[in-house]
Amino acid sequence: MTMTLKDWQARAAALVPETRMFIDGKFVDAASGAKFETINPANGQVVAAVARGGPADVDRAVAAAKKAFKSGVWSRMEPTARMAVMSRFADLIEEHAEDFALLDTLDMGKPISDMFNIDIPGSLMTIRFFAEVIDKMEGVVTNTNADALHYILRQPLGVCGLVVPWNYPLMMAAWKIAPALSVGNSIVLKPAEQSPLSALLLAKLFSEAGGPDGVFNVVTGFGEETGKPLALHMDVDKIGFTGSGEVGKLMMIYAGQSNMKRVSTECGGKSPQIVLADCEDLAKAAATGVAGIYGNQGEVCSAGSRILVERPVYDEYIALFTEAAKDMHVPGDPLDPNTTMGPLVTPEQQSRVLGYIEAGRKEGAKLAFGGNVPAKFNAGYFVEPTLFTDVSNKMKIAQEEIFGPVASIIPVDNLDHAIEVANDTIYGLASAIWTSNLKNAHRFARDVEAGIVWVNAYEAGDATTPWGGFKQSGNGRDKCLEALTQYTQTKSVWIELS
Ligand code: NAD
Repeated sequence: MTMTLKDWQARAAALVPETRMFIDGKFVDAASGAKFETINPANGQVVAAVARGGPADVDRAVAAAKKAFKSGVWSRMEPTARMAVMSRFADLIEEHAEDFALLDTLDMGKPISDMFNIDIPGSLMTIRFFAEVIDKMEGVVTNTNADALHYILRQPLGVCGLVVPWNYPLMMAAWKIAPALSVGNSIVLKPAEQSPLSALLLAKLFSEAGGPDGVFNVVTGFGEETGKPLALHMDVDKIGFTGSGEVGKLMMIYAGQSNMKRVSTECGGKSPQIVLADCEDLAKAAATGVAGIYGNQGEVCSAGSRILVERPVYDEYIALFTEAAKDMHVPGDPLDPNTTMGPLVTPEQQSRVLGYIEAGRKEGAKLAFGGNVPAKFNAGYFVEPTLFTDVSNKMKIAQEEIFGPVASIIPVDNLDHAIEVANDTIYGLASAIWTSNLKNAHRFARDVEAGIVWVNAYEAGDATTPWGGFKQSGNGRDKCLEALTQYTQTKSVWIELS
């Protein structure tokens, strides 16, 4: 990236983002005419006033999506033609990479370089992966009675409501829309109220790529006002949700209160990273641990927030972690391409995280570094990278998802103890073990209650690797071929031959 802070500031000053909802191929105001403001968390200034959707807008969007689905314009489009649209869509996103980077950074505060290193490549990889499988999916003929032919068709569901969070606005949307659209569904995307702008550009580019009207709709607004009516809607066939466990549970209730729509959830985590004494490269484990918790300001569902270190290497690991943390994630202006850590998304999130730091202090954990709002920022919602050591897994900071840059290091006696502590949580999203012993690695992979296991790595993966959790981290799987099964349903067809 060759742009400088000044260049980005100039782009930000000149920005006129689209702020209307996208319904049936057109940008439209909310039926009520209402708007809400999105705020730049780096300085507290208004980024844009965005259409504030309500039930009437959800109705319009769902009706357009249903009409498009029933017409077959997308759902029965020749697979190679649908592939071409999805692939052009990815190309257009790539062409607009700078616009997406600016929109997400201004909306939610992540370092703009992260957009180019993580969010945009991750989004493109996912959309291209699902575009490429469109004409490679096959049905099944079962080995049944010779006097009958039985086959199983896999068909799209219909209208999918996709409700996503603010921590990776573009990428979380891409993980949902790519499988849902590829198999022929129509969608209504509901971005988070903190970060609605990139979703609107996405919908516009889908249309420019040749996506038919009504297939990709976006309703912007608050959870209760737009997300809830979407999840309760009788013509929505599926909710694909990423967000907090609390709202994930509501989604399941809304499904039960309405039409028993399918619900897949990707929720929070309290992911353990285990460091055994036989770890070959403790410095690498420590540096990876730092990135695993402070990356994206710690606002990551899979953040490695609990680090369980075997006692013989406990002090050495803490020293290496502290050293590595000094300059890996330093709070700064997120528009500066050299910045490695931005502000938290809202003042509420900042107070929440500071509240957890206070709780850690009160419960007797040792504050090794951080714990404050960095001195040089008098605007913006920054929190320093923070480390607690000598943490007990019973403490609040070890049990609850903080969703901020706060790591807890917990001493453990051996692998069995580490696994017991790792599993002592309501969550089960990601996990990691640092060891040079194959048996330890495999035992951990077998026994840990988590949907994702890394051995001598953290946050590694690609579009083929399923993303989703055990326990209260949710029941869905994003990326990977398995995601397609969540946006399709099977139909059993029996043909009597006798
Ligand atoms: P959130 O649950 O508050 O909001 C997520 C989305 O749900 C937003 O679009 C919001 O407007 C909507 N929503 C809120 N209340 C609603 C309601 N009553 N009805 C319908 N929709 C409603 O979560 P958040 O604060 O935006 O995101 C942070 C959470 O997301 C964290 O818990 C994090 O772990 C989780 N997350 C999980 C994954 C994963 O893949 N497992 C990925 C990213 C984030």
